[in-house]
Amino acid sequence: MKTEFSPAQLSNPDIAEADKILRACVHCGFCTATCPTYVLLGDELDSPRGRIYLIKEMLEKNQRPTAEVVKHIDRCLSCLACMTTCPSGVNYMHLVDQARVRIEKEYTRPVTDRALRAVLAWILPRPGWFRVSMILARCGRWLGALLPTREVDPANPGLLRRVRAMLALAPASLPSPGPAGGNVFAARGKKLGRVALLQGCAQQVLGPRINQAAINFLTRHGVEVVLVKDEQCCGALSHHLGRDDDALARARANVTVWVKEAEQNGLDAILVTTSGCGTVIKDYGYMLRSDRDFAAAAARISAMTKDITEYVKDMSLQPAQQPGGMVIAYHSACSLQHGQKITQAPKELLSKSGFVVKDVPESHLCCGSAGTYNILQPDIANKLRDRKVANIATVRPDMIAAGNIGCMVQIAGGTSVPVVHTIELLDWATGGPRPGLT
Ligand code: SF4
Ligand code: SF4
Repeated sequence: MKTEFSPAQLSNPDIAEADKILRACVHCGFCTATCPTYVLLGDELDSPRGRIYLIKEMLEKNQRPTAEVVKHIDRCLSCLACMTTCPSGVNYMHLVDQARVRIEKEYTRPVTDRALRAVLAWILPRPGWFRVSMILARCGRWLGALLPTREVDPANPGLLRRVRAMLALAPASLPSPGPAGGNVFAARGKKLGRVALLQGCAQQVLGPRINQAAINFLTRHGVEVVLVKDEQCCGALSHHLGRDDDALARARANVTVWVKEAEQNGLDAILVTTSGCGTVIKDYGYMLRSDRDFAAAAARISAMTKDITEYVKDMSLQPAQQPGGMVIAYHSACSLQHGQKITQAPKELLSKSGFVVKDVPESHLCCGSAGTYNILQPDIANKLRDRKVANIATVRPDMIAAGNIGCMVQIAGGTSVPVVHTIELLDWATGGPRPGLT
């Protein structure tokens, strides 16, 4: 794609980066076929190609974001299916991230939208606050019945519709908190490795059993696990809301504590059981590339970061102990398959452990979770969830496995089939408790 940035504009490293990305796009439109919002809405401006064009116009003309641009960028799930499909290697992720930052800085949203985003950005990265908000939301669930179930224009939801979506996501009960940062779990038998395990934010409130399963599994296989003290939210939620100052501050804080842990006690890897977080941590090197004090350390941390299945696939697994033959529908989280290009390892590990793994039709399409998307764009998110659940039902699974808490909550909202994390199944297969019973 031809671009027309001036030399003065190109002296800004972010614009120079955007220029490089835009020039790679040949406008072929292959990406439209796999874009969930284009598939649902059929509007070119809700396709990757359309959004790329809107971002180009905004950046090239140095315009403030218009309501039209904001509408179509807000509807993007950041699922990155377009990046998997694109034959030209267009880095849509870095382009849309830049657009979101600009929108956040230069566009004045309606006051209710601003308030809701501020609340989400404050609460979600703070597990203590998030826990309290979940308890309050559970108490207020009756209120949801009084709020609208869908919008007159489903692609432009109002505050009440969003509040209803938020209340609907609150679980009926909350599990007890898992182990706190600072804990070290010794390897059983001969020590073969040492890793840090990301504690996560929403996950440690909604699904502490996931990291508990990871700890059980790893220590059983000779790996020492540390929950690093003073670790923070990875910044993904702020990053996707365009609040880069907050996201970068969190990235710097995490880089600092992880480098310290690696240097003082040794770390083979930083493992992540929430693939949405993993995608962002693997991008810390890029996000902090212009920060002279942090660029090298951030790149080192990104290189050390692995999804748990990436690490486990190189381990020698203990013999499977669970009754074989259980059918598992494997839901490939977008952040894992498109963001990190991890597609086979989780399925191969599950098969090796005695499960019958089934691919889900249209597995490239997002389930609609996408961080805060199912709150901010509930009607599109619900349509994607219903489509995902219908596709899953065709393989008649006993359980559904996924590698991202957001997807797990989203899919569980539309099915009675237990939704569990891949590591919970691997833990069960090698001696842990059966998942999906609580
Ligand atoms: S597939 Fe890639 S090159 Fe083609 S329009 Fe989409 S982003 Fe541009
Ligand atoms: S990230 Fe997903 S929703 Fe956004 S343009 Fe790409 S494919 Fe479409």
